[in-house]
Amino acid sequence: MKNIKDYDLQDLKEELANIGEKSYRAEQIFKWLYQDKVKSFDEMTNLSLDLREKLKENYTICNYNILKKLESSDGTKKYLFDVLDGNVIESVLMEYHYGKSICVSSQIGCKMGCKFCASTGIPFIRNLSAGEIVEQVLAVEQDTCEQISNVVFMGIGEPLDNYDNVIKAIRILNNPKGLNIGARHISVSTSGLVPRIYDLANENIQCTLSISLHASNDQKRSAMMPVNNRYNIAELMKACKDYIAITNKRISFEYALAKDNNDNLEDAKELVGLLKGMLCHVNLIPINKIENGKFTKSTNENIIKFRDYLNDKGIVATIRRELGSDIDAACGQLRRKNLN
Ligand code: SAH
Repeated sequence: MKNIKDYDLQDLKEELANIGEKSYRAEQIFKWLYQDKVKSFDEMTNLSLDLREKLKENYTICNYNILKKLESSDGTKKYLFDVLDGNVIESVLMEYHYGKSICVSSQIGCKMGCKFCASTGIPFIRNLSAGEIVEQVLAVEQDTCEQISNVVFMGIGEPLDNYDNVIKAIRILNNPKGLNIGARHISVSTSGLVPRIYDLANENIQCTLSISLHASNDQKRSAMMPVNNRYNIAELMKACKDYIAITNKRISFEYALAKDNNDNLEDAKELVGLLKGMLCHVNLIPINKIENGKFTKSTNENIIKFRDYLNDKGIVATIRRELGSDIDAACGQLRRKNLN
C-alpha cells in the first residue's frame, strides 16, 4: 500500500480526484497529518466515514517507532528509527539559539564513498521516500513535544542522488498547510552532483544549498571524495556560479579540516582563488574522527588561522560548533549502527 505522507499537496489533490473526491479534501487531510499530527485515518473526523474507509483500504500512514535515543551532554539527541521494512535510519536534533534544527537522512546507506565519512561504511540499500524523510521531523517533534524550526539534509545519504523524493519532502515541509517550515530554514547539502545542482537552481525553491567542498584542488579532493573524479572542481564551481546567478542565493561551502591534509595556508590560499567574488559563506568543520578513518582533526590553532586567512581575504568563514560527538551524532559519524 502507498504511504499517504509520500504525496505533496498537489499530488494528493490529483490522487483524490482519481478516486472521485473533491480537492479540498486533500487540504483537510494535509492539515490532519502535518498540523494536528494525527496517526490514523479514524482521527480525521471531518471526513465522512466512507472516505475514511476508502483511505484505509488504499493507504497507510507511516509512523516511526523510536528504536533508540541517545542524548549528548550538549543537548543534541540522536534517534534511531525503524522505517517499517526492517531497515533503520538515524536523525539528529540540535539546539541552537534560533531554535531546534533536525539533521535528516535521505537514503538508507550512501553511494558516494567519501573517505572521511562513517556513512560510507554501510552499503547503499535504497532511497527514502518523501514520507519517510518527512516522518523523521514528525517523529522527533512528537517525542520532544516541541516544534522544529530548521531542517538540514545532512544525515545519511546524498540528497541530490534521491532528487525527486527530496524535492517532494521539501514541498511538504515548506507548505503553509503542511509543516510550514520556511524554505530559508531548509538546507540541502551535496557532495557535488553537478547536473542536479542545475535542476535545483530551476526548482524555484528558496532553500539553502550547501556544497561539501573539503579541498581546493582536484588531487586532494579526489583523494577524499571519489565524486570528484566524476565532477571535478572546475565543473562544480561553474555549477555553483550558475546556481547563484539563477537563484541570487548565497551558497554555503563546507570544508572539514583534517590535520596535515587540507589545513595549511596553501590550501586556504587556493580556496580563496576558487571562491573570490562569489556570493558565499564558508563553514569550517573540525573533521570528526571515524572508526578506522585515516583523517584526524586539525589543531585549534590551525583552524583559527585558516578562518582568519579567509576572512582577511574577504571570504566570510565561520567555524561550525561541534555538537553531539560524544554520541557519534556529529557530522560524518552517522551510520546504521547496531542496536545495542
Ligand atoms: N551527502 C551530503 C550530505 C551528508 S554529509 C554531502 O556530502 O553533503 C553532511 C556534511 O558532513 C557534509 O559536508 C560532509 O562532507 C560532512 N562530513 C562527513 N564526514 C565528516 C567528518 N568525519 N567530519 C566532519 N564533517 C564530515
